[in-house]
Amino acid sequence: MNGLRLEVDLDKVGDNTAQLVTRARQRGLSITATTKAMLGAPELAHVISAAGAVSLGDSRIENVERMIDAGIDHPMLLLRSPMPSQVDRVVRAGVTSLNTETQVLTALAAAARAQGRIHDVILMVELGDLREGLMPEQLDQAVSHVLGLPTLRLHGIGANLACRNGIEPTVENMGELSAIVDSVEAAFSVEIDLVSGGNSANLDWAFGASAIGRINNLRLGESILLGTEPLHRRPIPGLHTDAFTLIAEVIESQRKPTMPWGRSGQNSFGETVEAEDRGSVWQTILAIGRQDTDPTDMAAPDGVEILAASSDHLVVETRDRMCPGDEIRFVPGYSALLRSMTSPFVAKLLCQSDEDDLPGRGIP
Ligand SMILES: *Cc1c(COP(=O)(O)O)cnc(C)c1O
Repeated sequence: MNGLRLEVDLDKVGDNTAQLVTRARQRGLSITATTKAMLGAPELAHVISAAGAVSLGDSRIENVERMIDAGIDHPMLLLRSPMPSQVDRVVRAGVTSLNTETQVLTALAAAARAQGRIHDVILMVELGDLREGLMPEQLDQAVSHVLGLPTLRLHGIGANLACRNGIEPTVENMGELSAIVDSVEAAFSVEIDLVSGGNSANLDWAFGASAIGRINNLRLGESILLGTEPLHRRPIPGLHTDAFTLIAEVIESQRKPTMPWGRSGQNSFGETVEAEDRGSVWQTILAIGRQDTDPTDMAAPDGVEILAASSDHLVVETRDRMCPGDEIRFVPGYSALLRSMTSPFVAKLLCQSDEDDLPGRGIP
């Protein structure tokens, strides 16, 4: 077995999904569960679909195609605006795409016409976080553009907060989104099916006491996978926060001073390190590095302290000498999880307890 591996307990992810779906339903919200942090792993898609997510969301068409090729036929949203070079693939995949650019909408409509299809779109509105979204005063023009393209269908309106600037979803900005939806419906005599209010950062707002207004959908990733909300990275009560474990193998463990010696310049990442003399310690090296994870975003077990990381080495302090071949288990945060999923050097083991008699299935 590969010493460097990410173990995923899919039962816990399924449980988290089911709980969030139930709580959201009580507030009139459906859940789109995102698969992008796991490269659209079909096993994940099965579990979260079975747990009640109305649709799957992924930011990359490659992941969407992977799920479709694996036979997943749940509705899907493409969360990132399509690249103009990929509009044919986006239309062919039959997903709903999130959009902000009339030029891209025109290209999607042309691709849909060529393929004899209708393509569903959601228009994204900027509410202050300054990532994707049309400025609100620009929305009417985009709506009329979509309505004028017969191969497009306006499926919904959405917004995304807390991703770039950490702007929180509040009664005010969610109220603004509701008002925008009302005004589009009134101005164009249309009905907007889906009003997608945001991501895991919306959960405090969603489960709070305030009115939900027109919002009827959230797109959740981190909360389902890690059981945390991203605004303060607090565990969500009742959810599993240990569905993912990142396991690395010891390759060296030596008693060493904490003070480096010799003349010092920058390290391999252009950083200048200020060392503190704490005498000598058990310095243990694990065969995992910045290429495989985000070493600043993982929780180490008791008795292990992360000191530094380079491309391929993680330097930790341990209470005692460890033997080469020993393993240490970490709990990754979202950033560490993303990077581990995309490192070809990290084996992925997806486990489900109803298959306990089988070894964890590896995915390539
Ligand atoms: C990634 C993403 C989500 C999910 O975000 P989480 O914080 O993981 O819940 C929702 N919407 C969009 C547009 C995204 O890109």
